[in-house]
Amino acid sequence: MKTNFKNAFLLLGAIALTTAVSCSKDEEVVLETQETVLAELDQQPNHRESECGYVDGNWSSTAYLSSSIGTSSETSFMNSQNSRIASVWGRPAVPLRFVKDASNPNSTFNAISYGSGKIYYGEAIYNAAKARGGSNIVNAMILAHEFAHQLQYTYGLPSRNESTARAAELEADGMAGYYLRRPNGFNKTSFSQIAPAYEFAAAIGDNNVNSPGHHGTAPQRRSAVRLGFLLGAYDLNAPNFDYNFFYYYSGVLNGQYKQAQSEYFNPEIDAYIRAHAEELRRIQSGEMSDEEYFNLD
Ligand SMILES: [Zn+2]
Repeated sequence: MKTNFKNAFLLLGAIALTTAVSCSKDEEVVLETQETVLAELDQQPNHRESECGYVDGNWSSTAYLSSSIGTSSETSFMNSQNSRIASVWGRPAVPLRFVKDASNPNSTFNAISYGSGKIYYGEAIYNAAKARGGSNIVNAMILAHEFAHQLQYTYGLPSRNESTARAAELEADGMAGYYLRRPNGFNKTSFSQIAPAYEFAAAIGDNNVNSPGHHGTAPQRRSAVRLGFLLGAYDLNAPNFDYNFFYYYSGVLNGQYKQAQSEYFNPEIDAYIRAHAEELRRIQSGEMSDEEYFNLD
């Protein structure tokens, strides 16, 4: 298989040869669990990666890994975001690689966070997110969402178990909203600055509520990122964020915000979130208009 893929790779020509710069042995790791930004989850445990012309079973057979995306400044932006996101959570950065496919570009509309400790980021989803403008904030948000799954792997989160991926996905959305606000993160203090970018993720929310890969409905994803943004007013580590997020999680789902208290309960945070309870309820119920959502403080 390796030889065949290498031959196919060579046929892609000079463009592919000059862009596929990451072909090192360190990509040969056994996959454990993985997560996609899209709804489908292709669990392929123990699948072994090869080199250059073959990424793994989650990407097309003609896809390949690269350490660059877009211009050199764009690559620097993504790598610096990768470090910054990890730093906000007090964690080391994980390897970030980009997936390209010259013969089937649309196949790279995906980003995957692997349980083995790395993030593969598709060129197509990068380009689509970049086209939304706003200083490439959408790609920062997607990367923060993917890193949130690394936090979940590390700390055994989310603390809430559901029959679908929803709790993990909505928490990752919340952690992305948190990162976009933190002063040492993306440092956006006004929600109106991040809401248009977040619409990209809400747009790929789904209504397949019984599917194992269910990521939450679009209103729930909106409400989750809003709650995460509000929590971004406080310096929280991942377990503390998890506690606070799920303390108010029923509000993300149905507008109810009261749960049992734990050691992480903070009266100041509680008062702050409760002041926004009605607003969060109106987001998740779909009562809030796009215009109002995008202009929240
Ligand atoms: Zn996810």
